[in-house]
Amino acid sequence: MMNINSTRLQLHFEAMSLIGKIGATGTCRPTMTALEKEAFELTASWMTDAGMKTHIDHFGNLIGRLEGKNPALPVLMMGSHLDSQPYGGRFDGVAGVLSAIEVVKALAENNIQLERSIEVISFADEEGWRFNKGLFGSRGILGKLEDGELQRVDKDGITREQALIDFGCDPTKFKESEYMPGSIYCFLELHIEQGPVLDIGNKPIAVVSGISGPLWLTVTLKGMAGHTGSVPMPLRKDALLGAAKIIVALNEIVTQVPGDPTVGTVATINVFPSSRNIIAEEVSFTVDLRDIELARRNQYEKQLKEKIEAITKKHSLSYTITEDTNSEPRYCAAWIKEIIHSKCKGLNLDAPEIMSGPFHDAMALSYACDYGMIFVRCKDGISHNPLEYSSYEDLALGTEVLYGTVVEIISKK
Ligand SMILES: [Zn+2]
Repeated sequence: MMNINSTRLQLHFEAMSLIGKIGATGTCRPTMTALEKEAFELTASWMTDAGMKTHIDHFGNLIGRLEGKNPALPVLMMGSHLDSQPYGGRFDGVAGVLSAIEVVKALAENNIQLERSIEVISFADEEGWRFNKGLFGSRGILGKLEDGELQRVDKDGITREQALIDFGCDPTKFKESEYMPGSIYCFLELHIEQGPVLDIGNKPIAVVSGISGPLWLTVTLKGMAGHTGSVPMPLRKDALLGAAKIIVALNEIVTQVPGDPTVGTVATINVFPSSRNIIAEEVSFTVDLRDIELARRNQYEKQLKEKIEAITKKHSLSYTITEDTNSEPRYCAAWIKEIIHSKCKGLNLDAPEIMSGPFHDAMALSYACDYGMIFVRCKDGISHNPLEYSSYEDLALGTEVLYGTVVEIISKK
């Protein structure tokens, strides 16, 4: 017998999947859009039903708060995000928000008295593709935004600042939406694994050990345009050829030790002027490099930069590298992991401990408080894809583990 209501949870997932639905099972729900607003309104109605007061803050976060008997105590915070990738699934982010609301609803149904207040948050722009930088809302509430973030533009030339204003936020009032140091007791996030470890191991739930740190670079190469029919090969300054060699080099660097968890990816590329009979003059592409060991990641970054230097020299190109994000690995709190493990055992779940390659809002929160994460199995490890799938049985189990974890934390003195 579960404390949470798995049927209600499933209905919420099904209702949310209709907002921004693409194809049979996909989702496109970009941050700070009418679609996300619609998702917020529906979610706020569920939060209200669970006894929470709701508001959207100036960063574009949706926040539900259940007041405890002692509102001065630091808050227990849970959540994730409702924005999706442009070609995404139904569970990424959504699972963390809906499971948290279900937990709060179940607390009320079970007449659990709260000393400490609980907040459930759907963070703004976790995904980061629209403005090329993620974790906006979760960094925002901690005063961790960087210079120039409001001037970042999406592919239609809309600035982050304008998108916020259009969403009903006031970027001049960010301070009002920030959390004071010490005001968050801990943060809990349930998320689908987005990798294949649980599915291969035939286990529904994992306890997360930490989040590996992503390094995001944008590399721009500049050569010289010319007619593809007439410029002799030795005289060319072909920026796309240079990019191709760098992309291959990155792959070789991160796979140099078979079995290591390092991953490196180039997944977007812009070519100018992009005509089939003009040699590419300027090419820019993104680099995504992740590792649970910072020292190794730093070493690979250095190797990549040496390769970029050598390859551009060979092809007479100039280059610039800008660093968009540089995060270190962040480890979950041992005491929270222990509680999650014990709740899994109580449900007869053999839950392995695994590291998260993807980053999550919890990574931003890790700089403000202790945090813990629960992973739910997703089929074949597929995510950021309409085929992403987690079963409602597994999601209910994860939510029950989250419930038990919250009950134990709020009863701590
Ligand atoms: Zn996510």
